[in-house]
Amino acid sequence: AKAAGGGRWMIYDAERDRRELTRQALTAAIPTGLDRGEFYLDYQPLTSLRDGRLLGVEALVRWRHPELGVLRPDQFIGLAEETGLIVPLGGWVLAEACRVAGSWSGTGGEPFVSVNLAVRQVHRPGLVRDVRDLLRHTGLPPERLQLEITESAMMSPAEEPVRALRMLADLGVRIAIDDFGTGYSNLAYLRDLPVTELKVAGEFVAGLRASEPQADERILASLVSLAHALNLTVTAEGVETAGQAERLRAIGCDAGQGWHFGRPEPADRILARMG
Ligand code: C2E
Ligand code: CA
Ligand code: CA
Repeated sequence: AKAAGGGRWMIYDAERDRRELTRQALTAAIPTGLDRGEFYLDYQPLTSLRDGRLLGVEALVRWRHPELGVLRPDQFIGLAEETGLIVPLGGWVLAEACRVAGSWSGTGGEPFVSVNLAVRQVHRPGLVRDVRDLLRHTGLPPERLQLEITESAMMSPAEEPVRALRMLADLGVRIAIDDFGTGYSNLAYLRDLPVTELKVAGEFVAGLRASEPQADERILASLVSLAHALNLTVTAEGVETAGQAERLRAIGCDAGQGWHFGRPEPADRILARMG
């Protein structure tokens, strides 16, 4: 055994080892989880602030882990991104979301499905071909697929992602910037990319008060005028109260997403909402 002073370090090391082991075990479990069908998607409504219509749904991945129960994306997406496993995992999400939304086709006016793309997926050659194949196989019309990318995906000087996004937009696929306003906002990409929508991070919405205009409301109002001047739509995320929804509507924001409109839920519940 070690002396008292060293003992603390041993405890610290043991904890770090355990964390590292958990990370390694979780990482190794991702491919097997994919094979065994442990991942599934919930869908959260994107609702028109003008007329309350269901415009789209965002696909959000969950993992029903055999020992740990249901894991949220924050518990494994980071790991998957660091290890490159986000490519097969994200590929599965994209395919599943297109399959489900494709099955809604028929009467017209069905919501689009919005899928999160990790930086690595955007930079991967073959993305455009995969999306084109998926749309063909699932029968999902391109304008009913939206891809959500983050500002950080656009930070590298690489030409490949820009070309890929242009080709996707030419197909008719919608391109949204996720968590707009929280990243490194070099707005040049709004000029260079075929973006169709800005999704404004919930942290701006959280500051909205029904009373006098606050800084967050002024920021939101300027984001909305910027977006509309560029012919983009704006979805506000994290809308939790009727008061926030009303302020956002008054500002001119197009759509809202958040607990006020609906939590993420299984595909069959979304189908029921469509009536
Ligand atoms: P995000 O893209 O910003 O997704 C919105 C998150 O906000 C979701 O958390 C959603 O459940 C949560 N949310 C929705 N409404 C409200 C609200 O009114 N209040 C609050 N406080 N939160 C709300 P979730 O499902 O845990 O996802 C977390 C993040 O994980 C997502 O953030 C996204 O960055 C990532 N993610 C989820 N699915 C995927 C995926 O398939 N691929 C990739 N690359 N990332 C994903
Ligand atoms: Ca998102
Ligand atoms: Ca977001």
